[in-house]
Amino acid sequence: MFNLILFGPPGSGKGTQSEKIIEKYKLKHLSTGDLLRSEIAAQTPLGLEAKNFMDKGQLVPDEVVIGMISSSLDANSGVAGFLFDGFPRTTAQAEALDKLLKLKGTSISVMLALEVSETELVQRLLNRGKTSGRSDDTNETVIRARIQEYETKTAAVASYYEDFDKVVKIKGEGTIEEIFSNLCSEIDARLS
Ligand code: AMP
Repeated sequence: MFNLILFGPPGSGKGTQSEKIIEKYKLKHLSTGDLLRSEIAAQTPLGLEAKNFMDKGQLVPDEVVIGMISSSLDANSGVAGFLFDGFPRTTAQAEALDKLLKLKGTSISVMLALEVSETELVQRLLNRGKTSGRSDDTNETVIRARIQEYETKTAAVASYYEDFDKVVKIKGEGTIEEIFSNLCSEIDARLS
């Protein structure tokens, strides 16, 4: 299996690039943000609990997202690999993911980390908010809270994988195609 983490702050282009990568490499896309938004839309107890955190730009508790990922891994056995988008976001999530993958006899192949300046991130998210229908993209205070959560809790996840020599940094500014091409070069180098 080829298991990839697409990493980066909110607004760095993970969702856009994930769509292109899964189409080209036929990986199963697991986005915890998308899974949580589906739970909210279906008004499940999990969704209602998660919404309180998401509306404030805070991370949802680890056990909630780890449980969701565990079920998704079980529900998708037999795929060529997984693309994790927006997960793991804490070191505890990274440790849990490693354990879950190990139980399935596999592991993370690489973490591709998109790098974008904070000014550009806020601008992109406010622009996205005009059309995404996401309430957490329209309020600048919530956007800054999400970036703050990324800096205080999520950035450490890159250090975790750096210790295993699995992180490649990719410039996340430029055209969508330029960034995609740089991501593909790194994936191809590991698949061959
Ligand atoms: P995203 O779509 O990845 O930007 O996620 C939107 C929101 O969902 C985040 O601001 C968090 O509140 C929540 N969320 C998504 N993924 C995670 C995760 N792995 N851990 C905790 N909270 C998450």
